[in-house]
Amino acid sequence: MKYDRTYNFSAGPAMMPEEVLEEIRDEMMNYQGSGMCVMEMSHRSKVFDQIIKEAEADLREVMNIPDNYKVLFVQGGGTLQFAMVPMNLMKNGKAVYIETGSWSKKAIAEAKKYGEVIVAASSKDKNFSYIPDCSDLDIPEDADYVYICENETINGVTWNKLPNTKGHILVSDQSSMFLSKPCNVSDYGLIWAGVQKNVGPAGMAVVIIREDLIRDDLPHWVPTYMNYKTHADSDSLYNTPNCWAIYCCGKVFKYLKKIGGLEVMHQRNLDKANLLYDFLDHSKMFTAAVRPEDRSLMNVPFVTATAEMDAEVVAASKKAGFDNLKGHKSVGGLRASIYNAMPKEGVVALVDFLKKFEAEHK
Ligand SMILES: *Cc1c(COP(=O)(O)O)cnc(C)c1O
Repeated sequence: MKYDRTYNFSAGPAMMPEEVLEEIRDEMMNYQGSGMCVMEMSHRSKVFDQIIKEAEADLREVMNIPDNYKVLFVQGGGTLQFAMVPMNLMKNGKAVYIETGSWSKKAIAEAKKYGEVIVAASSKDKNFSYIPDCSDLDIPEDADYVYICENETINGVTWNKLPNTKGHILVSDQSSMFLSKPCNVSDYGLIWAGVQKNVGPAGMAVVIIREDLIRDDLPHWVPTYMNYKTHADSDSLYNTPNCWAIYCCGKVFKYLKKIGGLEVMHQRNLDKANLLYDFLDHSKMFTAAVRPEDRSLMNVPFVTATAEMDAEVVAASKKAGFDNLKGHKSVGGLRASIYNAMPKEGVVALVDFLKKFEAEHK
């Protein structure tokens, strides 16, 4: 790789496309003749106004977002959305959540502070290694929404078929699969994603919300910043936004347009993931942790027979120049996060390394 960079398999913050980083570098000292770096720029300036407007327009184009949805850039990362969703969408004080792993568990715990949470399906019984059947859920008539984590970053499961919400609004945490494949936005009431997994630098979430779900009758205790209406009414410029993240994400949206959009990205992601899963399924030493039909294209957890051997693989991988292959502390084992910006060569190199390790440790 150029610049002596490492193949970084981190779950996030994660790799960004090299050509995007190069563009950012080239514009660092003087952004397009403005005489400033974007980090130094007023968020009320004309130059920045164009940056944020273009970022939104490009994202709308890439995801084909219908006009009746608002796009919001909100600080507080992914975690703030665990609270903002129930604060803003619980009208009847009741919502249905599907429990599929660590991040949906966090969302459930937070939502319980604001209302009644009904866990209508869970894959806890098998250590969150699959997506439960959600074709015929028991959903109370007055539930305000159905919530899923569309890709569980830690557990490595993903939804290939959305739940049957029986007419209720679907809310999805897309943090670790955002922009990894085409998305039919009108299937959802609200999509949100922390950007540091698959797009840009940490510290921001993109929220895509159907306009009619933005309320002006929230209880007075809801902080101004945490009301979606605040951001919608001010085009994400109510206060100083994360200008730097907006700028970098905007570059990535343009990059996605340039390579041919989400269909092309999806194909590349399928190629990469298939390479790795195919190796794992044929290996005698390594095992993929997730049921084949629910496997994430982005986060690939796998194990050897023992925790000691897992640790040995991680140590050897570090020596060989791969970073962040250790599984999350809550589940152990190994995990390769292979987001949009991980080049295919990185996955090929990883598979070669694992093959060699296996041959040497027979
Ligand atoms: C990382 C992650 C989050 C939390 O994001 P932060 O920005 O760290 O708060 C939430 N959901 C999913 C699926 C994630 O991968």
